[in-house]
Amino acid sequence: MNNTNTAEAKIKQLSQRLQQSIQSRKQLENQYNRDYNTLSELVVKLTHACSGVDHELDSKLVKLRGLLQRNASMAVLESTINDTQTLIQKHTLNIQRQLKQTSEQTRATLTYLRQQSLPPKLRTKLNAIEDQMESPSIALSHYVPILLSFLELLTDPSASLSQAPKNGEHRDSAVPSKQLLNLLNQVEFDGATGQLVQRIKARLAQPVSAEQFIELVLELIKEIFKSINDERQSAQSFLLELNQTLGLVQGALQQTLKSKGEFDQRSGALNKQLLVNMQQLNDSVSKATQLAELKEQVSAHMSSINQALEQKFTLENDERRNFETQYQTVSVRLQHLERQVEQYKRQLAEQKFKSLQDSLTKLPNRAAFEERLEVEFERWARYKEPLCIAVADIDLFKRINDNFGHIAGDKTLQVLASMLRKSVKSSDFVCRYGGEEFVIIFPQTELEQALQRLEIAREKIGNIPFKFKNDDIRITISAGIAQFKQDSDTVVTVFEAADKALYEAKRRGRDQLVSANEDK
Ligand code: GH3
Ligand code: MG
Ligand code: MG
Repeated sequence: MNNTNTAEAKIKQLSQRLQQSIQSRKQLENQYNRDYNTLSELVVKLTHACSGVDHELDSKLVKLRGLLQRNASMAVLESTINDTQTLIQKHTLNIQRQLKQTSEQTRATLTYLRQQSLPPKLRTKLNAIEDQMESPSIALSHYVPILLSFLELLTDPSASLSQAPKNGEHRDSAVPSKQLLNLLNQVEFDGATGQLVQRIKARLAQPVSAEQFIELVLELIKEIFKSINDERQSAQSFLLELNQTLGLVQGALQQTLKSKGEFDQRSGALNKQLLVNMQQLNDSVSKATQLAELKEQVSAHMSSINQALEQKFTLENDERRNFETQYQTVSVRLQHLERQVEQYKRQLAEQKFKSLQDSLTKLPNRAAFEERLEVEFERWARYKEPLCIAVADIDLFKRINDNFGHIAGDKTLQVLASMLRKSVKSSDFVCRYGGEEFVIIFPQTELEQALQRLEIAREKIGNIPFKFKNDDIRITISAGIAQFKQDSDTVVTVFEAADKALYEAKRRGRDQLVSANEDK
């Protein structure tokens, strides 16, 4: 009986070892899940950081993010990562195509300019620009529209730059000067570009010759190309890096998937073998009648079980080490990329234009108005060219909101803004000052003409056939207007005078204009 006891003890011991093995398998399983979660978190952070680079890419990344958050299987994840990579490649190609178009247009403009009789100094500048354009491959699209506008300005036949007199402080370039000033007032640049733009704005406040004008525009284009080059480099290396990392993540996932499959298979077979061995051992113990026979059988089974357990531990250790190495590589790479993405985003934010446009009406906003008024005021102070400003306010606008809702109110604001813009001259500056108030600057305009134009605008606005919920509604505006006159006038005093005149118009019953200067 002693023998049977020994065998039972051995079986107990073996079964403990099997238990241990199952435990360690579970630990491995848990670690695998934890690692998957950490990996997921990293990828989720990464996709957050990348959002906003491209619309389509955004939605793909959002999908990837969703999958990760729902703990999708490695196989599903892998195919989405694949898709995202393809998209990034497409995105890169798109940007390249866009820049190619821009550079072709730029080249055409440069060719056009070369055909004009320009002084050698300007020719050298043209060549310098062409050099800077060499093999562009990526540009950030927000530079492109403004760049094209500058180029249009140069080739616009109505600007008649090519026929402008060679020497001369004259006003031939007054029209393009103003257009350029308008353009510059719509955007704001930071850093070195910002300083250059400030300098150019100051120059444009004085009369410039056609030649000087071209020179200014060329300086701007050069600066923009410099920015594009800088940004292109960081965008390109960012996209490359992103692509490589996604490839790496994909590779690691594939590897994990594969080795996990193999591991499961091998470990399953081992488990089966262990069970069989245990079973046999059990049978032998219960059937054995002879000690010697039992001893022999037990030791045979034992060595076989030991071997299987040995293999199992090795297999599990290998697997763990394998996964750790892969995970380490991906994790280090992702952390590095995260830092890069942060830096890239900061750069983008720094270079981004601060918009001076009101998003609802698309008119320049108050900040743009203040900048522009400063320029016009300086011009008035220096040359005493007539200058007026008007403050206009929609009458009883609150009722529109109250009766028909805020959305109808917004729509109305858009229609009125557009009519106001269309009704005055294109050289007049119309902005949304705030709420339902607009301000108009009339440069180089006498009070009489400014009043006439504003009167036409008031009438046209009053005649817009609004219809809300089957009601025909007439919407009107009141406005006050003031002219810069005395040496003591400042932007503040004249604006206040116009504002006071507006309140007088409201007091007199609305839907009318009042001039601040009428009783002086
Ligand atoms: P008054 O003739 O005296 O100017 O009367 P009013 O109702 O126009 O003047 P009040 O200043 O009392 O109200 C202006 C209203 O304009 C209140 C505000 O809700 C509305 N408003 C301002 N900005 C917006 C906007 O962006 N969208 C909409 N829908 N309403 C706006
Ligand atoms: Mg108001
Ligand atoms: Mg109002």
